[in-house]
Amino acid sequence: MRDVDAAVIGAGQAGLSAAYHLVRGGLVPGRDLVVLDANPGPGGAWRHRWPSLTLGATHRIADLPGMPLGSPDPARPASEVVADYYGAFEERFGLHVRRRVHVLSVSSPDGPDGSLEVETDAGTWRSSTLVSATGTWDRPHWPYYPGRETFRGQQLHTHDFRSADEFRGQHVVVVGGGTSAVQFLLQLNAAGATTTWMTRRPAEFTRRTFDLEWGREVEQSVGERVAAGLPPRSVVSATGLPLTPEYQRGIDAGVLVAREMFEEITPDGVRFADGEVVPADAILWATGFRASLDHLAPLHLREPGGGVRVDGTTVVRDPRIELVGYGPSASTLGATRAGRRAARNVLARLRQRPGTDTTSETA
Ligand code: FAD
Repeated sequence: MRDVDAAVIGAGQAGLSAAYHLVRGGLVPGRDLVVLDANPGPGGAWRHRWPSLTLGATHRIADLPGMPLGSPDPARPASEVVADYYGAFEERFGLHVRRRVHVLSVSSPDGPDGSLEVETDAGTWRSSTLVSATGTWDRPHWPYYPGRETFRGQQLHTHDFRSADEFRGQHVVVVGGGTSAVQFLLQLNAAGATTTWMTRRPAEFTRRTFDLEWGREVEQSVGERVAAGLPPRSVVSATGLPLTPEYQRGIDAGVLVAREMFEEITPDGVRFADGEVVPADAILWATGFRASLDHLAPLHLREPGGGVRVDGTTVVRDPRIELVGYGPSASTLGATRAGRRAARNVLARLRQRPGTDTTSETA
């Protein structure tokens, strides 16, 4: 059992930002602070994104604190760029991320005034405070439709997509109303596949500029749900899809025209409510992700509405815990900001304990 003042779970944008500010606030990695991450190397979820998702095709990767990303080649895969960036960041600030450490559970054996026990596949840490920054990548959401198990073709989720070239000559049903679905549809058609797009709600393209004010409105609407203890909604339900010239060309070509959802999956395709059948070689579920929070289950943090209620980033049911990269902070910009806020809260909490020397005001 190792004792620390603060444990950070997850070394993505949110966890790294929190760790940076905790170190600035006086915590020493390896002594007062441990950063645990399940991945084999830096990059958080970004290291798993498909190679054709270039930096230029992302919405934007916000800077981590104290070390701007700069202007990497937009044609490089975002997975590589971000992994390099996070790796350099960890090194520059000496964060000593402990890797391939999977947190299995967090419990509170001594009650709300005691320490938290962080049990991992590499031993247990006891910590006064916790920043949980585990993202969503490990929890792909596959909605259930009848007949799913009977389909003879390939079914895959965004989580497992690698390259559109694998589908050349095939007909692919793409499910989901977010940016990933839109980008897959364009890539699949360019690679010589044909597609049918299906969404639960009509796809909403917007001409609105994705400026700061718009970003704040989105954060506010997602934040209101989270503050009410409801599960965060998908970003696209709050934002709509940006109508870029590329997407407009896709609409004009009939590629980005969504149909209503099918009712049933058959061995060879999908069937609609009116009986029409669309044959398919593959079904690509671009249906998003849920917050990866299973490790916190022993603490019973969920509200009756199904979400974890947070005040800013602090979990209302257990203020020893900060939840970052969750709900309104599930973008790189939001994650950077939330990490700072969480660190500030952790440091304030630690300062309240007698005999603690983490008194720096810098975070
Ligand atoms: P992550 O990057 O997911 O990091 C979480 C880390 O926690 C991972 O390293 C994981 O291994 C680790 N972890 C998880 N569970 C455990 C455990 N139990 N024990 C130990 N470690 C654990 N945002 C943008 O701002 N711009 C974009 O262009 C953009 N594009 C996106 C595209 C896709 C397809 C998706 C799914 C999301 C996109 N996002 C984008 C949102 C993106 O998820 C956030 O930007 C941000 O990278 C999330 O950072 P994070 O630190 O919260 O999580």
